[in-house]
Amino acid sequence: MAIQQTLILIKPDGLKRRLTGLSIDRLDASGLEMVAARVVSVSDALAREHYKSLSDKPFFANLIRYIRGEFHGFKDSRVLALVYRGEDAIKRVRAIAGATNPEQAEPGTLRGSFGRITTEGQFENVIHASSDPADAEREVALWFKPEEILAAPQG
Ligand code: UDP
Ligand code: MG
Repeated sequence: MAIQQTLILIKPDGLKRRLTGLSIDRLDASGLEMVAARVVSVSDALAREHYKSLSDKPFFANLIRYIRGEFHGFKDSRVLALVYRGEDAIKRVRAIAGATNPEQAEPGTLRGSFGRITTEGQFENVIHASSDPADAEREVALWFKPEEILAAPQG
């Protein structure tokens, strides 16, 4: 199994509800390594680029509002962006996150424990995690400059 890097975002609901430390605890307990971290104010352009494959979905407009913090009272939108690295990191972080729909996510996953569906139907699911190697590579490069990511040990 390959060493992978994967992008994680603690979304605005996660920050507002003080789930940042708990989320990092779960990620650290996996044995994967945190190799980059940044608090990011999410511009409209960054939000749209990040979620561009979903631009034709009916929930896209509200998804952009959600990831920019509009539903969580942030004047300056903000997420915590992280990169974790390790063996099979993409799948392992997805397993910690749980299924996209918080009602279907296993209890004990971050989304299963702390996600919710709003009365408008928005999935507020605490955390983003890259879904496959192509997505992970694109997303890590979108949120981080190469020099912001700890170099892999040589040899
Ligand atoms: N989402 C939503 N309603 C849906 C599907 C997705 O609100 O029916 C939101 C949800 O916050 C999700 C994000 O859009 O995390 C991105 O969707 P994707 O299908 O990529 O799920 P993920 O990869 O985050 O599990
Ligand atoms: Mg996805």
